[in-house]
Amino acid sequence: MEDKTNLLDLSVEEIQQILSGIGAEKFRAKQIFQWLAKGITSIDDMSNLSKAFREKLKGISRIGMPRIKNKLVSRIDGTAKYLLELEDGNVIESVLMDYRHGISACISSQVGCRMGCRFCASTGIGFDRNLSPGEMLGQILTMQSDGGKRIGNIVIMGIGEPLDNYTSVLKFLRLVNHPEGLNIGYRHISVSTCGLVPEIIKLSQENIPVTLSISLHAPNDTIRDKIMPVNRKYSIDKIIEACKIYTEVSKRRITFEYALISGVNDSRENAMELGRKIKGMLCHVNLIPVNTVEGNDFRKSARQQTEVFKAILERSGIETTVRRELGSDISAACGQLRRSSSEGRDS
Ligand code: SAH
Repeated sequence: MEDKTNLLDLSVEEIQQILSGIGAEKFRAKQIFQWLAKGITSIDDMSNLSKAFREKLKGISRIGMPRIKNKLVSRIDGTAKYLLELEDGNVIESVLMDYRHGISACISSQVGCRMGCRFCASTGIGFDRNLSPGEMLGQILTMQSDGGKRIGNIVIMGIGEPLDNYTSVLKFLRLVNHPEGLNIGYRHISVSTCGLVPEIIKLSQENIPVTLSISLHAPNDTIRDKIMPVNRKYSIDKIIEACKIYTEVSKRRITFEYALISGVNDSRENAMELGRKIKGMLCHVNLIPVNTVEGNDFRKSARQQTEVFKAILERSGIETTVRRELGSDISAACGQLRRSSSEGRDS
Protein backbone atom coordinates (compact mmCIF):
# COMPACT_ATOMS: atom_id res chain seq x y z
CA MET A 1 0.00 0.00 0.00
CA GLU A 2 2.64 2.46 1.08
CA ASP A 3 4.60 1.99 -2.14
CA LYS A 4 1.65 3.28 -4.10
CA THR A 5 1.65 7.04 -4.56
CA ASN A 6 -0.89 9.03 -2.55
CA LEU A 7 -2.70 11.00 -5.26
CA LEU A 8 -3.58 13.70 -2.71
CA ASP A 9 0.12 14.57 -2.48
CA LEU A 10 0.35 15.41 -6.17
CA SER A 11 0.01 18.51 -8.31
CA VAL A 12 -1.70 18.25 -11.71
CA GLU A 13 1.73 18.12 -13.36
CA GLU A 14 2.86 15.32 -11.08
CA ILE A 15 -0.31 13.35 -11.81
CA GLN A 16 0.50 13.79 -15.51
CA GLN A 17 3.91 12.29 -14.88
CA ILE A 18 2.61 9.18 -13.21
CA LEU A 19 -0.02 8.81 -15.92
CA SER A 20 2.62 8.80 -18.62
CA GLY A 21 4.03 5.71 -16.90
CA ILE A 22 0.77 3.83 -17.57
CA GLY A 23 0.27 5.23 -21.05
CA ALA A 24 -2.68 7.50 -20.21
CA GLU A 25 -3.51 10.78 -21.93
CA LYS A 26 -2.26 13.95 -20.26
CA PHE A 27 -5.70 15.56 -19.95
CA ARG A 28 -6.80 12.83 -17.57
CA ALA A 29 -4.62 14.40 -14.88
CA LYS A 30 -6.90 17.39 -14.58
CA GLN A 31 -9.95 15.15 -14.30
CA ILE A 32 -8.32 13.15 -11.54
CA PHE A 33 -7.29 16.30 -9.70
CA GLN A 34 -10.88 17.58 -9.93
CA TRP A 35 -12.22 14.30 -8.57
CA LEU A 36 -9.87 14.41 -5.62
CA ALA A 37 -11.11 17.90 -4.73
CA LYS A 38 -14.62 16.49 -4.47
CA GLY A 39 -13.44 14.41 -1.54
CA ILE A 40 -13.83 10.97 -3.11
CA THR A 41 -12.15 8.19 -1.18
CA SER A 42 -11.92 5.54 -3.88
CA ILE A 43 -10.44 5.61 -7.37
CA ASP A 44 -13.54 3.69 -8.48
CA ASP A 45 -15.58 6.82 -7.82
CA MET A 46 -13.89 8.50 -10.81
CA SER A 47 -16.83 7.67 -13.03
CA ASN A 48 -15.62 9.40 -16.19
CA LEU A 49 -12.61 7.08 -16.36
CA SER A 50 -12.94 3.62 -17.87
CA LYS A 51 -12.86 0.63 -15.56
CA ALA A 52 -9.69 -0.62 -17.23
CA PHE A 53 -7.97 2.71 -16.66
CA ARG A 54 -9.10 2.85 -13.04
CA GLU A 55 -7.59 -0.59 -12.49
CA LYS A 56 -4.28 0.59 -13.94
CA LEU A 57 -4.40 3.68 -11.76
CA LYS A 58 -5.13 1.59 -8.68
CA GLY A 59 -2.06 -0.47 -9.48
CA ILE A 60 0.21 2.51 -8.93
CA SER A 61 -1.68 4.90 -6.67
CA ARG A 62 -4.12 5.34 -3.82
CA ILE A 63 -6.22 8.04 -2.21
CA GLY A 64 -4.67 8.41 1.23
CA MET A 65 -7.62 9.96 3.01
CA PRO A 66 -7.65 10.04 6.82
CA ARG A 67 -10.38 8.18 8.66
CA ILE A 68 -12.70 9.81 11.18
CA LYS A 69 -11.91 8.07 14.41
CA ASN A 70 -13.98 10.31 16.60
CA LYS A 71 -15.91 13.54 16.34
CA LEU A 72 -17.03 15.84 19.10
CA VAL A 73 -19.54 18.58 18.42
CA SER A 74 -19.88 21.56 20.71
CA ARG A 75 -23.36 22.06 22.08
CA ILE A 76 -22.57 25.72 22.57
CA ASP A 77 -21.60 26.77 19.06
CA GLY A 78 -21.56 23.69 16.80
CA THR A 79 -17.78 23.63 16.46
CA ALA A 80 -16.70 20.11 15.55
CA LYS A 81 -13.43 18.57 16.63
CA TYR A 82 -12.27 15.61 14.59
CA LEU A 83 -9.84 12.99 15.69
CA LEU A 84 -8.46 11.74 12.40
CA GLU A 85 -6.51 8.57 11.91
CA LEU A 86 -3.81 8.65 9.27
CA GLU A 87 -2.95 5.62 7.17
CA ASP A 88 -0.06 4.69 9.45
CA GLY A 89 -2.27 4.73 12.55
CA ASN A 90 -1.08 8.11 13.83
CA VAL A 91 -3.85 10.34 15.06
CA ILE A 92 -4.18 14.08 14.57
CA GLU A 93 -6.89 16.62 15.28
CA SER A 94 -8.66 19.08 13.07
CA VAL A 95 -11.46 21.48 13.86
CA LEU A 96 -14.39 22.76 11.82
CA MET A 97 -15.89 26.08 12.85
CA ASP A 98 -18.83 28.09 11.61
CA TYR A 99 -17.32 31.47 12.25
CA ARG A 100 -17.81 34.96 10.87
CA HIS A 101 -17.32 34.55 7.13
CA GLY A 102 -18.48 31.00 6.62
CA ILE A 103 -16.91 27.70 7.44
CA SER A 104 -13.32 27.62 8.68
CA ALA A 105 -11.08 24.62 9.12
CA CYS A 106 -8.21 24.45 11.57
CA ILE A 107 -5.71 21.79 10.55
CA SER A 108 -2.59 20.15 11.92
CA SER A 109 0.74 20.27 10.13
CA GLN A 110 2.74 17.67 12.08
CA VAL A 111 2.18 14.65 14.29
CA GLY A 112 3.29 16.30 17.52
CA CYS A 113 5.55 19.33 17.73
CA ARG A 114 9.19 20.10 18.48
CA MET A 115 8.83 23.68 19.66
CA GLY A 116 8.19 23.03 23.34
CA CYS A 117 6.01 26.05 24.20
CA ARG A 118 5.36 25.63 27.91
CA PHE A 119 1.65 26.43 27.83
CA CYS A 120 0.78 24.21 24.88
CA ALA A 121 -0.68 20.72 25.15
CA SER A 122 1.10 19.59 21.98
CA THR A 123 4.37 19.90 23.86
CA GLY A 124 3.53 16.96 26.06
CA ILE A 125 2.88 14.59 23.17
CA GLY A 126 6.37 14.71 21.64
CA PHE A 127 7.12 14.71 17.95
CA ASP A 128 6.54 11.85 15.54
CA ARG A 129 6.76 13.17 12.02
CA ASN A 130 5.79 15.78 9.50
CA LEU A 131 2.50 15.53 7.65
CA SER A 132 2.62 15.28 3.87
CA PRO A 133 0.78 17.84 1.72
CA GLY A 134 -1.88 15.23 0.98
CA GLU A 135 -2.39 14.53 4.66
CA MET A 136 -3.11 18.22 5.20
CA LEU A 137 -5.43 18.31 2.18
CA GLY A 138 -7.07 15.12 3.44
CA GLN A 139 -8.07 16.88 6.67
CA ILE A 140 -9.89 19.58 4.71
CA LEU A 141 -11.57 17.13 2.34
CA THR A 142 -12.68 14.79 5.11
CA MET A 143 -14.22 17.56 7.17
CA GLN A 144 -15.83 19.17 4.13
CA SER A 145 -17.48 15.89 3.10
CA ASP A 146 -18.60 15.18 6.63
CA GLY A 147 -19.85 18.72 7.32
CA GLY A 148 -21.58 18.99 3.95
CA LYS A 149 -20.71 22.66 3.49
CA ARG A 150 -17.91 24.32 1.55
CA ILE A 151 -14.87 25.22 3.63
CA GLY A 152 -13.94 28.79 2.78
CA ASN A 153 -11.18 29.55 5.24
CA ILE A 154 -8.22 27.61 6.55
CA VAL A 155 -6.04 28.22 9.55
CA ILE A 156 -2.93 26.10 10.04
CA MET A 157 -3.12 26.34 13.80
CA GLY A 158 -3.64 22.78 14.89
CA ILE A 159 -0.93 20.45 16.10
CA GLY A 160 2.58 21.21 14.89
CA GLU A 161 4.69 24.11 13.70
CA PRO A 162 3.90 24.66 10.02
CA LEU A 163 7.14 26.45 9.22
CA ASP A 164 9.06 23.50 10.67
CA ASN A 165 7.45 21.48 7.85
CA TYR A 166 8.01 24.19 5.29
CA THR A 167 8.17 22.30 2.00
CA SER A 168 5.05 20.22 2.60
CA VAL A 169 3.07 23.16 3.93
CA LEU A 170 3.98 25.22 0.87
CA LYS A 171 2.92 22.45 -1.45
CA PHE A 172 -0.33 22.04 0.47
CA LEU A 173 -1.01 25.78 0.10
CA ARG A 174 -0.53 25.55 -3.65
CA LEU A 175 -2.74 22.45 -3.90
CA VAL A 176 -5.59 23.92 -1.93
CA ASN A 177 -5.40 27.18 -3.86
CA HIS A 178 -5.40 25.53 -7.30
CA PRO A 179 -8.35 26.69 -9.45
CA GLU A 180 -9.12 23.12 -10.51
CA GLY A 181 -8.99 22.01 -6.91
CA LEU A 182 -10.59 23.55 -3.83
CA ASN A 183 -9.69 27.00 -5.12
CA ILE A 184 -9.36 28.59 -1.69
CA GLY A 185 -7.75 32.03 -1.99
CA TYR A 186 -4.52 32.71 -0.10
CA ARG A 187 -6.26 35.60 1.60
CA HIS A 188 -8.55 33.08 3.23
CA ILE A 189 -5.66 31.09 4.68
CA SER A 190 -3.70 31.81 7.86
CA VAL A 191 -0.40 30.23 8.73
CA SER A 192 0.45 30.42 12.41
CA THR A 193 4.06 30.24 13.57
CA CYS A 194 5.97 30.52 16.81
CA GLY A 195 8.46 32.65 14.87
CA LEU A 196 10.90 30.71 12.71
CA VAL A 197 12.65 33.72 11.23
CA PRO A 198 14.42 32.25 8.16
CA GLU A 199 11.20 30.57 7.04
CA ILE A 200 9.15 33.75 7.53
CA ILE A 201 11.57 35.56 5.23
CA LYS A 202 11.51 32.70 2.76
CA LEU A 203 7.69 32.68 2.78
CA SER A 204 7.67 36.38 1.95
CA GLN A 205 9.42 35.53 -1.34
CA GLU A 206 6.99 32.82 -2.46
CA ASN A 207 4.22 34.99 -3.81
CA ILE A 208 1.74 33.18 -1.59
CA PRO A 209 0.10 36.05 0.28
CA VAL A 210 -1.41 34.14 3.19
CA THR A 211 -2.11 35.84 6.49
CA LEU A 212 0.80 35.27 8.80
CA SER A 213 -0.04 34.82 12.47
CA ILE A 214 2.83 35.15 14.88
CA SER A 215 2.45 33.48 18.26
CA LEU A 216 4.18 36.22 20.21
CA HIS A 217 2.77 35.82 23.71
CA ALA A 218 5.28 38.13 25.36
CA PRO A 219 6.44 41.74 25.12
CA ASN A 220 10.13 41.01 25.80
CA ASP A 221 12.73 38.27 25.55
CA THR A 222 12.93 37.68 29.30
CA ILE A 223 9.32 36.54 29.47
CA ARG A 224 9.31 34.88 26.06
CA ASP A 225 12.46 32.87 26.80
CA LYS A 226 10.65 31.39 29.77
CA ILE A 227 7.51 30.28 27.99
CA MET A 228 8.76 29.65 24.45
CA PRO A 229 12.17 27.96 24.10
CA VAL A 230 12.30 28.89 20.40
CA ASN A 231 12.85 32.48 21.50
CA ARG A 232 16.41 31.68 22.51
CA LYS A 233 17.10 31.10 18.85
CA TYR A 234 15.00 33.88 17.34
CA SER A 235 14.49 36.88 19.58
CA ILE A 236 11.47 39.16 19.43
CA ASP A 237 13.43 41.86 17.60
CA LYS A 238 14.48 39.38 14.93
CA ILE A 239 10.89 38.20 14.55
CA ILE A 240 9.60 41.73 14.25
CA GLU A 241 12.23 42.50 11.63
CA ALA A 242 11.14 39.42 9.64
CA CYS A 243 7.49 40.46 10.00
CA LYS A 244 8.26 43.88 8.58
CA ILE A 245 9.83 42.23 5.55
CA TYR A 246 6.76 39.99 5.23
CA THR A 247 4.29 42.86 5.35
CA GLU A 248 6.34 44.99 2.97
CA VAL A 249 6.58 42.29 0.35
CA SER A 250 3.12 40.70 0.72
CA LYS A 251 1.24 43.88 1.71
CA ARG A 252 -0.59 41.61 4.12
CA ARG A 253 -1.37 42.58 7.68
CA ILE A 254 0.27 40.37 10.29
CA THR A 255 -1.66 39.01 13.25
CA PHE A 256 0.13 38.80 16.58
CA GLU A 257 -1.36 36.10 18.77
CA TYR A 258 -1.01 36.83 22.45
CA ALA A 259 -2.24 34.28 25.01
CA LEU A 260 -2.87 36.12 28.25
CA ILE A 261 -1.47 34.19 31.19
CA SER A 262 -2.31 35.48 34.61
CA GLY A 263 0.72 36.97 36.35
CA VAL A 264 3.08 36.01 33.55
CA ASN A 265 2.52 38.37 30.60
CA ASP A 266 -0.68 40.29 31.34
CA SER A 267 0.29 43.38 33.31
CA ARG A 268 -0.24 47.00 32.23
CA GLU A 269 3.54 47.33 31.80
CA ASN A 270 3.53 44.27 29.55
CA ALA A 271 0.80 45.85 27.42
CA MET A 272 2.66 49.14 27.18
CA GLU A 273 5.93 47.44 26.27
CA LEU A 274 4.19 45.39 23.60
CA GLY A 275 2.51 48.53 22.27
CA ARG A 276 5.86 50.32 21.94
CA LYS A 277 7.39 47.36 20.16
CA ILE A 278 4.83 46.90 17.41
CA LYS A 279 3.46 50.41 17.07
CA GLY A 280 3.24 51.57 13.47
CA MET A 281 3.42 48.07 12.02
CA LEU A 282 0.82 46.74 9.60
CA CYS A 283 -0.59 44.44 12.24
CA HIS A 284 -3.36 43.49 14.56
CA VAL A 285 -3.25 41.80 17.96
CA ASN A 286 -5.45 38.87 18.86
CA LEU A 287 -5.66 38.33 22.60
CA ILE A 288 -6.44 34.76 23.63
CA PRO A 289 -7.34 33.82 27.18
CA VAL A 290 -4.82 31.01 27.76
CA ASN A 291 -6.33 27.55 28.05
CA THR A 292 -5.15 25.66 31.05
CA VAL A 293 -3.78 22.31 29.98
CA GLU A 294 -2.88 19.36 32.11
CA GLY A 295 0.68 19.41 33.34
CA ASN A 296 1.10 23.17 33.79
CA ASP A 297 -0.48 25.72 36.02
CA PHE A 298 -0.90 28.62 33.68
CA ARG A 299 -4.20 30.35 34.33
CA LYS A 300 -6.12 32.68 32.09
CA SER A 301 -6.21 36.37 32.92
CA ALA A 302 -9.35 37.78 34.40
CA ARG A 303 -11.83 39.41 32.02
CA GLN A 304 -11.10 42.83 33.49
CA GLN A 305 -7.34 42.40 33.05
CA THR A 306 -7.92 41.37 29.45
CA GLU A 307 -9.98 44.49 28.80
CA VAL A 308 -7.29 46.73 30.34
CA PHE A 309 -4.62 45.05 28.22
CA LYS A 310 -6.73 45.59 25.12
CA ALA A 311 -7.43 49.23 25.95
CA ILE A 312 -3.73 50.01 26.41
CA LEU A 313 -2.86 48.51 23.04
CA GLU A 314 -5.70 50.38 21.39
CA ARG A 315 -4.46 53.61 22.88
CA SER A 316 -1.18 52.97 21.04
CA GLY A 317 -3.23 52.75 17.85
CA ILE A 318 -3.04 48.99 17.57
CA GLU A 319 -6.19 47.19 16.50
CA THR A 320 -6.88 44.52 19.09
CA THR A 321 -9.45 41.77 19.35
CA VAL A 322 -10.19 39.19 22.01
CA ARG A 323 -10.59 35.79 20.46
CA ARG A 324 -13.93 34.14 20.88
CA GLU A 325 -13.57 30.79 22.53
CA LEU A 326 -15.22 28.33 20.21
CA GLY A 327 -15.85 24.77 21.19
CA SER A 328 -14.80 25.28 24.78
CA ASP A 329 -16.91 22.34 25.92
CA ILE A 330 -15.09 19.94 23.61
CA SER A 331 -11.51 21.18 24.20
CA ALA A 332 -11.35 22.38 20.63
CA ALA A 333 -9.41 25.46 21.57
CA CYS A 334 -5.77 26.16 20.96
CA GLY A 335 -3.19 24.00 22.54
CA GLN A 336 -5.67 21.41 23.67
CA LEU A 337 -5.78 19.33 20.58
CA ARG A 338 -5.25 15.60 20.75
CA ARG A 339 -4.25 15.55 24.36
CA SER A 340 -7.70 15.76 25.88
CA SER A 341 -10.43 13.17 26.28
CA SER A 342 -10.06 10.61 23.55
CA GLU A 343 -6.29 10.96 23.33
CA GLY A 344 -3.70 10.17 20.72
CA ARG A 345 -2.70 7.13 18.78
CA ASP A 346 -2.80 4.62 21.57
CA SER A 347 -6.46 5.05 22.19
N1 SAH B 1 3.00 26.13 16.03
C1 SAH B 1 2.16 27.15 15.53
C2 SAH B 1 0.72 26.73 15.31
C3 SAH B 1 0.08 25.83 16.33
S1 SAH B 1 -0.41 26.52 17.84
C4 SAH B 1 2.26 28.37 16.41
O1 SAH B 1 2.98 28.35 17.38
O2 SAH B 1 1.67 29.39 16.08
C5 SAH B 1 -1.78 27.53 17.50
C6 SAH B 1 -1.91 28.70 18.45
O3 SAH B 1 -2.37 28.25 19.76
C7 SAH B 1 -0.60 29.41 18.72
O4 SAH B 1 -0.82 30.80 18.76
C8 SAH B 1 -0.25 28.90 20.10
O5 SAH B 1 0.70 29.70 20.73
C9 SAH B 1 -1.60 28.87 20.75
N2 SAH B 1 -1.67 28.09 21.98
C10 SAH B 1 -1.03 26.95 22.28
N3 SAH B 1 -1.36 26.53 23.50
C11 SAH B 1 -2.26 27.40 23.98
C12 SAH B 1 -2.99 27.49 25.19
N4 SAH B 1 -2.83 26.59 26.17
N5 SAH B 1 -3.84 28.53 25.33
C13 SAH B 1 -4.00 29.44 24.34
N6 SAH B 1 -3.34 29.41 23.19
C14 SAH B 1 -2.47 28.40 23.00
